[in-house]
Amino acid sequence: MTPVSHEPPADDAGSEDSLPFHSETSSPELPATFASLGLKPDIVSGIASVGYIKPSPIQVELIPHAIAGRDCIGQAQTGTGKTAAFVLPFLHHWRDSTRPGPQALILAPTRELVAQVAEEARKLSQDRHCRVAAIYGGQRIGPQLTALKQGCAIVVGTPGRILDHLSRGTLQLDAIEYVVLDEADRMLDIGFRPDIERILKRCPKERQTMLMSATVPDSIQRLIHRYMVDPLHINLAPVTLTVDRIAQSFFTVEEDRKFELLLRVIARERPRQCIIFSQRKKWADRLYAQLKRVYRGIAVIHGDLPQSQREKIMQDFRDLKIRCLIATDVVSRGIDVSGISHIINYDLPEDVESYVHRIGRTGRMGKDGVAISFVTPEQGDWLTAIETTINRLIEADSIDGFEGFTPRAPAVPPPPKPPSQPVYGRSRRKYSDRL
Ligand code: ADP
Ligand code: MG
Repeated sequence: MTPVSHEPPADDAGSEDSLPFHSETSSPELPATFASLGLKPDIVSGIASVGYIKPSPIQVELIPHAIAGRDCIGQAQTGTGKTAAFVLPFLHHWRDSTRPGPQALILAPTRELVAQVAEEARKLSQDRHCRVAAIYGGQRIGPQLTALKQGCAIVVGTPGRILDHLSRGTLQLDAIEYVVLDEADRMLDIGFRPDIERILKRCPKERQTMLMSATVPDSIQRLIHRYMVDPLHINLAPVTLTVDRIAQSFFTVEEDRKFELLLRVIARERPRQCIIFSQRKKWADRLYAQLKRVYRGIAVIHGDLPQSQREKIMQDFRDLKIRCLIATDVVSRGIDVSGISHIINYDLPEDVESYVHRIGRTGRMGKDGVAISFVTPEQGDWLTAIETTINRLIEADSIDGFEGFTPRAPAVPPPPKPPSQPVYGRSRRKYSDRL
């Protein structure tokens, strides 16, 4: 698996309920093994045959509580082994039986993710002969019907396709005991909330519910509140992963002058590749219409576009055919392109985590990056909240005609300036290619 730096949750980052368990599961003297997490021997040997040597941090933290039957929220970056973290506890309890209907339902946002999760579940369940069905759109329904008819213990699917089967009567949820919302933040970004709620309402009340997400914004909190019972929130998401390498600044600007400012910023910065984040799909489309009149190599990406089109855009972005991508937060986590020199927050995100995720799209692979935020005069408090969380002062920036004013007290004292380091992106032009 991709190695990731694992930061233990800051003292105040996890919820209070996560504290009493820390000594049990993450004692430094006793490195955890899959067996020490409480998994049954045959599951442990199954894991060994897959080739996993030791559990990842999220697996260490989550598995014991999941086995104990607790609803859990697993918050960790991509590539940290969340799938096995939620699949193994189910397998641990699962008994082969003749009961009709699946016992586990896993919802994931896209076809690719469904396929990945199904694959991982199949690998891990081999020794138990536990059948897994993958249900997603864009594929003939026939094979999926057969898989469901034959009977399976685990159904993995996109919310839309699962609803399809429910309405056709080809899938029953009466036997469901274990529900997982994987990549919950992305599912909500894509607009799956109503579908997810419809599905959850049809699952038995007596069940265990797991939620996996890189971020837990308010919209997810509402889902948690409604559909989970006394969940344990395990938060291993590093808050300040890459932000230290990124030159961050902001402009104070009135809403109606943002576009004018954007053109000035692009002309000054001449980004090699940039993402411009917009808060709403509609605004993103509008900005795209405006900007493409000025520059070539512009594209817009958001959750309303079909998956195939999003993939095409991302490929063009990787291939440098697109130099400037206008995006909503839906894509901020999925973008793993190493050449992005600039992030422009055309609209400031509503929560700090999204800010960190957005700017984390630059400064990748050890490169430096630049993040510039447009802040309206009313948004001073948001900016302060961001600064407090990242524990860093974001510099006020200015361009002729856009003299930023900052009628606010600094949230944190400015960090000591290193001697004679040029401010990145101003006195030195690192990225010289034109858009
Ligand atoms: P996430 O859902 O957190 O993005 P995945 O569950 O997709 O991450 O896991 C990422 C990769 O790591 C997968 O290829 C998976 O097979 C592998 N993996 C998971 N757990 C372990 C482990 N304990 N040891 C080694 N590899 C692992
Ligand atoms: Mg995952």
